[in-house]
Order: sequence, then structure tokens, then C-alpha cells
Amino acid sequence: MEPPTQGTALRGRTTADVCIVGGGYTGLWTALELKIRRPDLDVCLVEAGVCGSGASGTNAGMLMNLWPKFPSLEALAGRTEATWLAQQSSNAVEDVIGFCRDHGIEAHIERRGWLWASSSPAQDGAWTESLNLVEGLDGTPFRVLDGDTARALGSTALRGGVLDPTSATLQPALLVRGLRRVAVERYGVRIYEHTPMRATEERGNRTHVVTPHGRVEAGAVVLAINAWMSAFAHVRRTMVMSASDNAITRPLPAELLAGAGDPGLGVSDSTRMLNYWRTTRDGRVVFGKGGVGLGFRQHGARSMFGPVRRDAIIRREFDRLLPALAGEDFAATWRAPVEYTLTSLPYFRQLPGRSRVWFGTGYSGDGVGPSRMGGRILASLVLGEDDEWSNCAFTQPPRGWLPPEPFRFLGGQVVKHAMISKERAENDGRTPGSVVGALSRLDPTTWV
Ligand SMILES: Cc1cc2nc3c(=O)[nH]c(=O)nc-3n(C[C@H](O)[C@H](O)[C@H](O)COP(=O)(O)OP(=O)(O)OC[C@H]3O[C@@H](n4cnc5c(N)ncnc54)[C@H](O)[C@@H]3O)c2cc1C
Repeated sequence: MEPPTQGTALRGRTTADVCIVGGGYTGLWTALELKIRRPDLDVCLVEAGVCGSGASGTNAGMLMNLWPKFPSLEALAGRTEATWLAQQSSNAVEDVIGFCRDHGIEAHIERRGWLWASSSPAQDGAWTESLNLVEGLDGTPFRVLDGDTARALGSTALRGGVLDPTSATLQPALLVRGLRRVAVERYGVRIYEHTPMRATEERGNRTHVVTPHGRVEAGAVVLAINAWMSAFAHVRRTMVMSASDNAITRPLPAELLAGAGDPGLGVSDSTRMLNYWRTTRDGRVVFGKGGVGLGFRQHGARSMFGPVRRDAIIRREFDRLLPALAGEDFAATWRAPVEYTLTSLPYFRQLPGRSRVWFGTGYSGDGVGPSRMGGRILASLVLGEDDEWSNCAFTQPPRGWLPPEPFRFLGGQVVKHAMISKERAENDGRTPGSVVGALSRLDPTTWV
């Protein structure tokens, strides 16, 4: 079949063994993994915009493992499997770096590590539970730092932290565009961009992916649409859709840039509405804050992409956490959705009522590395393989349900505002009021 040229939409009918919907990391890794395992398979991918239009092109670029989430992993899977999953997530980081090296993907990868820091007394020791649980396990990457070392590495505003030297940072859109190129040129995946899936229809032993000007008749379908899975009510009830606000500075002189820490190091603090930053290869600072917006019903994904409308919160946190750069202009800002599951971990399953449609979502802000695992899991599910991936804990049904709308949104707004008040009080050295404290504890999601 003639491969579509870049940016070509699907017009008319086509067939495929597997049709993947969504051209972010999950969709592209799944396509690549299928072709690596079964080169004879005919794989096509339809993407509503261009590959990387979603979180994969707009994230902060921290390529990390799941060791910080060990408490959640252990609660989900038990100690033995949690250890295996954490180790596989470290392997995923190696895989991404190795794949880029082997295929000439220049994604500005900097392997300087990730600093998990405290920026207020309330955050001190936020890592203790994770570190206690992983002590003695094979592959644990953490090194506890004293305050001076954390400040020297990340910012003068920090109080202490833990370094994971195995993590990396990268330019996220260059990674997704590189994966796209390799999928097309090296593995023959047919990619149709500007081709949104409108519906799936089961016809005999085929599933049709219906698009505005055509359809794909496929043997199996993978929905790799991440936050857009909130269109499905049963998935929506498992996730809080929140928005992260991000900003990037203009290129800065070296002496100013040093105020944002070691070049290429990823830094996050430990507030629930996470602050994170890194420098870029062209001397800018990328800074972001999680949890600032809340999605209503299925509109979360669509309505949360765009520039930051009111940058007061991100401005305040930028100035507080990077005092050497306080007041520095933002060259651009953007808002993008993050889907938090109640376990803070992703899951991969068959779509209810559809025998040949699988989906994966719920990375909860940690998908750059783990989506490599997602590609392996989805490939195993689609191929019907009975292996460690298809049987791993990430294929279990999600735990717990959120209330339906409008209760979820209204309750979520109350909790979110309590969390903002609590964070402000803690940053100012005040004790949050008891009502604010109680309300913010109702946050059903967790970060670790
Ligand atoms: C602001 C922000 C910062 C983040 N920072 C980090 C970080 O530093 N480190 C980290 O590990 N993770 C981070 N994440 C999370 C990470 O980016 C995601 O987990 C990951 O990119 C998910 O990849 P994906 O392919 O599953 O989804 P996406 O990249 O969102 O891809 C889904 C794709 O599906 C397409 N699509 C949707 N609906 C349809 C349809 N009907 N038909 C066809 N196509 C459709 C979309 O256009 C999109 O391209 C961050 C996320 C955000 C938003």
C-alpha cells in the first residue's frame, strides 16, 4: 500500500491488521513494538492533529522511572511485582535513550538526573516513605542530599532533596517527531495526520475506525488517546483531569541561567501541585506547575490545551523557586491536561463492549519513560500474547470510582482551592487552617 506523505489525512477506505488511534508516545511506541515483534504486520496510525499534538509534544521533558511511585506500585501489585515494574521503568529510560541513539533521533537528551526536592518546611522528607520502601531493592536509584548540595544543584530556594542520577531530560516534541520518522521510514507504519477518529464500529471480525473522510478496516484497534479517553464515561470516572501550566523564558546568559540549577537537570519540588523546571540546550528555562485547572466532564482534554490565560500562580512560583531569575519575562506559556488516576499509575485494557479494541491511559504526569512500557503492554494485549506484559498489574481494572458530574467538578473545585490555600500558607511559613487542611486531604489522587 502506498505510504501517505507527511501531514496527509485519510481519504477513502483502507485496511490494516492493527489501527492505532493517537500519535503520541504511546501510539508510536505501540506501533514500533508491533513491527519490531512482527515485521509482517500491517500497522497504520490515525492522529487527529499532527503527531505530538497532545501531551507528548507539550510536556516538561523529564525522562524518569517509576521508583518515586513505589508506594503506589506496591499498593497495586505487591512488593515483588512492584519491584519488577520499577526495574522495567528504569529499563524503559535506557530503552528510550538507546533507541534515539540507534536511530539518529536528536532529542536533546541530557542525562544529568532528576532532583526531587523540598521547597517549604511542609515538604521536607516527602520522599521518606518511598525511600524506606525501596531500601535494599535491586536498582534503587536514589541518593539523599543535604540542603547545600540540593541548593547547589537545583536552586537557592531549595531546602533538601534526593537525586536520581539515572533520569534524563529531553526536548519532548523532538522525541515524538523522531519516533514518527522511524516508524514510517524504518518500519513502514502508515501514518495519517489530521484524521480524527469519530467512532469505532464492529463489523463481523473487523473493527472499523471511522474518520471524517474515510475509514480503516482493522483486525484490532488501539486507542492511544490519553486525556481524550475522558470521552468514555467509564474511563472518566477513574481519572481526575487537571491542567498543568508551563512557561519558557527567552535564551538567558549563562550567569542568569545558573540560577535554575545544573544544565539539563530535571527538578521537581514535593507540593501536591507540583512545581518543576529544567534548562534547555539553547539556554532557556522551562518551568511548570501541575494541578491548576480542572476538567469538566469530557471537555477536559480539548479545553485544556492553549496558552495560560492568567499566569499569576505560575509567575509567583517561578519567582519564589528561582529567585535569581525573578521577574524574567516568559517568551511563551502553555496549558495542557494531565490525567491522574486514583493509583497515580497508568492502566491498559480492552474497551468494554468491544472485543478487538484496547486502550491505555492514566500516566498521571509520568509518561515520557513509562509510555515505552505502555507500548510493550499494548502490543502484547493486541497480539494475544500470554506474557509478563499482558499479565502485569497495569492491565488490572482501575481501583475506585470518582463521583459523576457535576459533583466531581464542583467537589474538585473546592478541594483544588483548598490545596492552593494550603500551599500558600505553607510557603509563607503559616499553618493552614483546619478546614483548608481537611478539605485538601480529600484529594483522591496521589503523586507517589
Ligand atoms: C504539561 C505536562 C507536563 C508533563 N511533564 C512530564 C514529564 O516531565 N515527564 C513525564 O514523564 N511525563 C510528563 N507528562 C506526561 C506525559 O507527557 C504523558 O503521559 C505522555 O505524553 C502521554 O503520551 P500519550 O501518547 O499516551 O498521549 P498524548 O501525547 O496526549 O497523545 C494522544 C494523541 O491522541 C490524539 N487524539 C486524541 N483524540 C483523537 C481522536 N479521536 N482521533 C485521533 N487522534 C486523537 C491527540 O491529538 C494526541 O496526539 C506531562 C504532561 C503534561 C501535559
